[in-house]
Amino acid sequence: MATLLVSQRNYDDHRTPAGHPERAERLRAIEEALDPALFPGLLRKDAPFGDLTLAEIVHDPGYVQALSTVRPAEGIARIDEDTFISSTSLDAAGTALGAGLAALDAVALGEVENAFCAVRPPGHHAERARPMGFCLINTIAIVAREAQRKYGAERVAIIDFDVHHGNGTQDIFYDDPTVLYASTHQMPLFPGTGAADETGAGNIVNVPLPSRSGKAEMMGAYSETILPRLAAFRPDFILLSAGFDADYRDPLAQLNWHPDDFSWLTLKLREAAQSLCGGRIVSMLEGGYDRQGLATGVAAHLTALSS
Ligand SMILES: [Zn+2]
Repeated sequence: MATLLVSQRNYDDHRTPAGHPERAERLRAIEEALDPALFPGLLRKDAPFGDLTLAEIVHDPGYVQALSTVRPAEGIARIDEDTFISSTSLDAAGTALGAGLAALDAVALGEVENAFCAVRPPGHHAERARPMGFCLINTIAIVAREAQRKYGAERVAIIDFDVHHGNGTQDIFYDDPTVLYASTHQMPLFPGTGAADETGAGNIVNVPLPSRSGKAEMMGAYSETILPRLAAFRPDFILLSAGFDADYRDPLAQLNWHPDDFSWLTLKLREAAQSLCGGRIVSMLEGGYDRQGLATGVAAHLTALSS
């Protein structure tokens, strides 16, 4: 079965200030890396606009309205030290959500084995009650809830290999045993959460990694901890918060992962999905701030998902 690539035409609609690491150029780098000439076997779809009112299945009531209120009529407004909203950011965020929901539909209906969504802004730092860390809406959390609500999934696993801890996703599912949230991340690093003793209702698995660590520590974290926990959980769907900022070139972090590490990890997760849930994976782009690191990481990820 095929792999679906869901692309976002309006990724430029979310504007950030000059010099901000989370910028539209990231998605241009991915477009080049996933050119149809290089990946002829991928099914491709443009993301439709998603229903932003669904955000309130994971965020507080009034959350989207509050974002609309701080959104400027033109230009860019600052939400916190590094999180910004522009006049058309909610169009981009809505389409990022539409991508995730379209990917979920295609995977759930068996049209494809798995899917990757190349979208921005990212989502995993957005908590129940506040946007942060470049993130406005926690897209992957909404997709997880929709997998339960629309497709009857009893257990959904979210594996987060972005170099930063997904504090928002952890916050949203902290006391929910129907969602496994497992993360590797550099520690100490923004946002500061993700210690191994943050375990929620037994459904939160954090494996912090030390600065400068690379392949051996990454393989150990997955082989010894996260993959066994994933197997024991017996998920109906596996969602990936796919960040590529653990790449050795990334300017915002100091891990030492290489493209073949993203390949190894993706193949292990795909094998797990095939044995546990019919291969069903929906992968959503989170971070990745070095142009080459992002492009090569995403290409390795898609090769492993689709080959
Ligand atoms: Zn990140």
